[in-house]
Amino acid sequence: MSPIRQTAIISAVAVLLSFTLTGSLYLLFFGMDFRFWQAMVLAIMVPWGISIPLGLFLSKQRFRLIELTEGLEQAQLKLRQVNKALEQRANFDAMTGLPNRESFLARLDLMRADHLENVLMIVDVDHFKNINDSFGHPIGDQALMLLGKVFRKILRKNDLVGRIGGEEFGIFLPNTSGAEGQIIGEMVRHEIENIIFEPHKNMRHVITVSIGVAHIAAHQDRPTIMGNADAAMFRAKRRGRNRVALFEPGMRAKPGPTHDQNLDLDMALPDAILR
Ligand code: GH3
Ligand code: MG
Ligand code: MG
Repeated sequence: MSPIRQTAIISAVAVLLSFTLTGSLYLLFFGMDFRFWQAMVLAIMVPWGISIPLGLFLSKQRFRLIELTEGLEQAQLKLRQVNKALEQRANFDAMTGLPNRESFLARLDLMRADHLENVLMIVDVDHFKNINDSFGHPIGDQALMLLGKVFRKILRKNDLVGRIGGEEFGIFLPNTSGAEGQIIGEMVRHEIENIIFEPHKNMRHVITVSIGVAHIAAHQDRPTIMGNADAAMFRAKRRGRNRVALFEPGMRAKPGPTHDQNLDLDMALPDAILR
């Protein structure tokens, strides 16, 4: 309603009230005489004189308040959007859209408390440096983005996946046994091996990953479970890459035989990868 309309209604109501009240009181106390109509004219003029400027002033103030409230609501909306964007930037990897390392680990800590049996997998791309060296860094980025898509496509709704390193991903499988984890790891490995990745036109490059799977016991702390999954992943690398290895006790003590001379160097520091 416009301020003028609002003022008109208020002053009409004021005039009507004043008219009725003055008329009734005058008749009650003085009866009908020649001053009755003078009093009635005053009864109309006085409220108009007061209510019109007052009403205009009040409704202008009211509309200003409405404008301010709307401005405030818009500012709040913008602030919420900025906060959301900041939160997104702080918790998610911009390239793959997956949770970043800190966010992945924080969520893992929360989620693991809900179930007795959980699994952590570490997925490391094989010879990723070769992809960068052969096709360039931007093509390497594209490969990482493709991997992000594959994880999102094949993992279950409640599974958690994050980018925990350059070409390294963590997958947390809640309410899952080690054996089930190994099967899911195989599915992931198989799916990635079959990605159609074309660094150049009509040229296909097969991406493979090595996956370490570790069953999480309730009493184990985060460095232990990360170290276990890492040790299993390095076992998969040593056995020739493009495979899944389930963590077994003792794996962290002795790295196991290698099919890859380059990995002897990696294995010289088995616990350097501890988190
Ligand atoms: P391995 O099979 O032993 O894992 O070999 P690798 O070449 O994958 O391992 P290495 O750790 O030597 O190389 C990882 C490479 O990943 C090195 C680094 O330049 C690259 N990398 C890390 N982050 C990114 C990224 O965001 N984009 C691209 N394109 N490359 C990245
Ligand atoms: Mg790596
Ligand atoms: Mg690698």
